[in-house]
Amino acid sequence: MLQQTNQVRLILAAILALFLLLILVATPFSETEQADVSTDQEVVQTEDGEVEVESDDGAIPAEVLEIPTRSLDGVPILSDDALAADSNPVMRIGQRPEHNIITYTVARGDTPNVIAERFGIQSTTILGGNPNLSEESNLLGAGAELRILPIDGVLHQVNYGETIESIAAEYDVPVEDIINYAPNRLEFPYRVYKGTEIMVPGAVAQVFTWTPPKNNRPRSTVVGTGTFVQPVRRGCVTQYFYPWHRGLDVGLPVGTPVYSMDRGTVIYGSWAAGSYYDYGNLIVVDHGNGYETYYAHLNGINVFPGQVVDQGQFIGYSGNTGRSSGPHIHVEIRFNNNQDDPSFLIQGTYSGCEISR
Ligand SMILES: [Zn+2]
Repeated sequence: MLQQTNQVRLILAAILALFLLLILVATPFSETEQADVSTDQEVVQTEDGEVEVESDDGAIPAEVLEIPTRSLDGVPILSDDALAADSNPVMRIGQRPEHNIITYTVARGDTPNVIAERFGIQSTTILGGNPNLSEESNLLGAGAELRILPIDGVLHQVNYGETIESIAAEYDVPVEDIINYAPNRLEFPYRVYKGTEIMVPGAVAQVFTWTPPKNNRPRSTVVGTGTFVQPVRRGCVTQYFYPWHRGLDVGLPVGTPVYSMDRGTVIYGSWAAGSYYDYGNLIVVDHGNGYETYYAHLNGINVFPGQVVDQGQFIGYSGNTGRSSGPHIHVEIRFNNNQDDPSFLIQGTYSGCEISR
């Protein structure tokens, strides 16, 4: 009887011990599993930012976290890596530049200064991103699209044979400024590729200025008054004097009489067009005092080179010849071949076309 009781106690103790053992064994397993799951979540979330497997935390689907997602080296494996971003974008030599350029549509009444101020750039930088603005075509009209550069400078189109050094020299800026501008994606040995565009920080776009050929140029025989009368009696301004538009455009019907702004000698009266300029029919008058006046896009030239003209004398008819966006006259007043703003020099004013319309 005592032996039987002891046996029962022993069996009970054994069962209890086994039960305890099971609990002891089972508990760590479940804890480990839970720990593993939470570790996985942490790993995914923390390493996510480090290795950039996903673009953002919220994009990881819940199912991905629940299934075992760890490889041996601890880098998370995604069930679908087709959408995963490149975890380590490698910069390679010869990569094309990636510029952050804004396209801006010109609104009515916009001026270069207004646009430049809006984007925190110099007005000359507008030309730096839009070299075709230097052409005579009133491209700053409402609805025109401009490329706005993120910083001041020139977006230079690389031509055959150019190097970083030659481009830096062309714009008189340090080579390092071009290399160090990250979006240019330049890596040693800093090759540039024809047809690509590289940013030249701090550069100022240059405007081509055409002058009549020196040979066969009539000698100036009279000296002007130094004052300037209106080249046309009426019309409204379609384009003002800008860094890249070094003249004044007055819109008016084709065939409107044009007058010499001061006394002088006609030194050019012919077609004037080339790669970087297109005046159409052009008259140039030398006033003998350092000043010259230009009258472009004419329909008719009624003077000849060498002819002396008085201030206010009829010289031709306005037109729409050459690169012109509509009937208008383009006038320039140059002093020692530097263009001045005609609206400051011409006696009498023209209103802007937008106001009078
Ligand atoms: Zn013009």
